[in-house]
Amino acid sequence: MIAKAPCAPADQASALMWITSRPDIVFTSGQGSWLTDQTGKRYLDFVQGWAVNCLGHCHPAVTRALTDQASTLVNPSPAFYNPPAMELARRLTACSAFDRVFFANSGAEANEGAIKLARKWGRKHRQGAFEIITFENAFHGRTLAAMSASGKPGWDTLYAPQVPGFPKARLNDIDSVRALVGPHTVAVMLEPIQGEAGVIPADDDFLRALRTLTAEEGLLLMVDEVQTGMGRVGTLFAYEQAGIVPDVMTLGKGIGGGVPLSALLAREAVCCFEAGDQGGTYNGNPLMTAVGLAVLEELTAPDFLAEVAAKGEYLSARLLELSRELGLRGERGRGLLRALLLADDRAARCVELARELEPAGLLLNAPRPDILRFMPALTISREEIDLMIDGLRDVLLRAGKAA
Ligand SMILES: *Cc1c(COP(=O)(O)O)cnc(C)c1O
Repeated sequence: MIAKAPCAPADQASALMWITSRPDIVFTSGQGSWLTDQTGKRYLDFVQGWAVNCLGHCHPAVTRALTDQASTLVNPSPAFYNPPAMELARRLTACSAFDRVFFANSGAEANEGAIKLARKWGRKHRQGAFEIITFENAFHGRTLAAMSASGKPGWDTLYAPQVPGFPKARLNDIDSVRALVGPHTVAVMLEPIQGEAGVIPADDDFLRALRTLTAEEGLLLMVDEVQTGMGRVGTLFAYEQAGIVPDVMTLGKGIGGGVPLSALLAREAVCCFEAGDQGGTYNGNPLMTAVGLAVLEELTAPDFLAEVAAKGEYLSARLLELSRELGLRGERGRGLLRALLLADDRAARCVELARELEPAGLLLNAPRPDILRFMPALTISREEIDLMIDGLRDVLLRAGKAA
């Protein structure tokens, strides 16, 4: 017998299927970088729905797009064209290295699409090659194939058997990739910055070496920019910073500004789906793509990304200062996707203490026992960054004493 899952704390939650422990908080509204719970307590939000609300909570552009589109057209079915989907695809291809877009509803689903596209391409152009080299500690989502592509410890056995065909290389070790290339290899897929692993960037040199290797071997290079894309790292996409052009890219999280929208983008030569190969009931629906359009409009407004990069530098400097002050192990990341490296395993305790701060709580994330991750709204202010740092200092000092 498997142990019975603990009861949800709030009576009202007892009908929700238990999948994880949640704090005894019910969020009822949000505005910008702030959330409010059922008691009226406010929280400064450095999680933002897991880096999805790139414009913060209830940004007027997102609300307007949702309400306007909700009263215009919600879903004519994926078998027909609709204006927001066509326009968002056009805009995404215009501001990226890719020629075609397939919309989906989650990062995992976009990655499934990328995996299918690579396998189809391998069948057509590489004698049925199907293996996609991915990386230790990678995170690509929670569908079976995306879990198999991921390198999260324990996931190889959790829902065994896995989907085969995802040999794992080591990030920033080009020889470990080269050693896995064989007749069945069709692609290499990676996150430009491993987010869930604790904000571990792929070096620019490594990304360039990967591009060279995949080009020489005739393999596809696929970047999972579900977390790093849509301005999060200070440029619209992270691959730009390494000066490479991948063949395939997936987007999620920030692309919808909080609503379920994701995308698979590919260069023309890779687009090989035939009628009926790929689809989905909600894919490319105008309600979500209208929001995507409003989000992209904000991100590409003059100076917006430069300001994200500048605030990223500011957050980086303040975290580094705090690290020096408290004898921690520094910080890393790009733009507004950053991590503070603690000296010991007190990250989970910090997340809890931060939530309990009074009068206002602070929402942080601990992707690893000794790492805190920061993924605020791209619209965060320097004053809000300062507020977070003050709360964090308090929390780190108290977590240290308790330990
Ligand atoms: C969050 C994430 C995913 C999964 O996205 P979902 O929308 O949760 O399916 C995939 N890849 C990366 C890099 C992510 O950060």
